[in-house]
Amino acid sequence: MSLVPAKCTQCGANLIVDNTKDAAVCEHCGTAFIIEKAINNFTLTGNQSIIINSAVINVQSTAPSQDSAANTPSAEKLLLRAEEFEQSGDFSRALEYYNKVLDLNPSDSTAKDAVDRINNRVIAEITLTPFGSSKSTLTLTRSELIHVTKKGRFVYPTKAITSVNRQYALLSVTLSSQTKPLEFPVGKPVPAKVMETALIKVINER
Ligand SMILES: [Zn+2]
Repeated sequence: MSLVPAKCTQCGANLIVDNTKDAAVCEHCGTAFIIEKAINNFTLTGNQSIIINSAVINVQSTAPSQDSAANTPSAEKLLLRAEEFEQSGDFSRALEYYNKVLDLNPSDSTAKDAVDRINNRVIAEITLTPFGSSKSTLTLTRSELIHVTKKGRFVYPTKAITSVNRQYALLSVTLSSQTKPLEFPVGKPVPAKVMETALIKVINER
């Protein structure tokens, strides 16, 4: 967990967020937001020194570097970049770079393990407390939406999700393989919003 400053993308309130998570709810206005966007929002609008710092970094990155002689980056360097992205919480770019490593070296076990680790990382997890029914848990990873109920563990691949809708505390998820959407009565609107935001992010990133 790493706490960093951010700015609510809806109301503009200054927030402190955990940059290893994907989505959160603003304590000021109750709007669910993408953490990466809120951090960018703070960087762009809230702090001049960060803008100056990133400008300096940009200038340096365009200068000739030691590896400019080699046009193709080595697997080792790509792996290093991937690990940096993963550590900073930028999982979609980390995945992109781990896959570049695997393009060069398909048996690289470090990159393979990392791809599995990122795909199985819990992005959001909520407890469903529908009125008059028993509790269950809904967990989202990059690869799967998992619903654990008294009756069992139901796993839906995120690749099959075609749309996500929410009406107050009822979350509906449409899968390409089914005509009727899956309905998750969350019971409360805030966890429903958190899961809706996280699901939309996963769909947009694939
Ligand atoms: Zn807000």
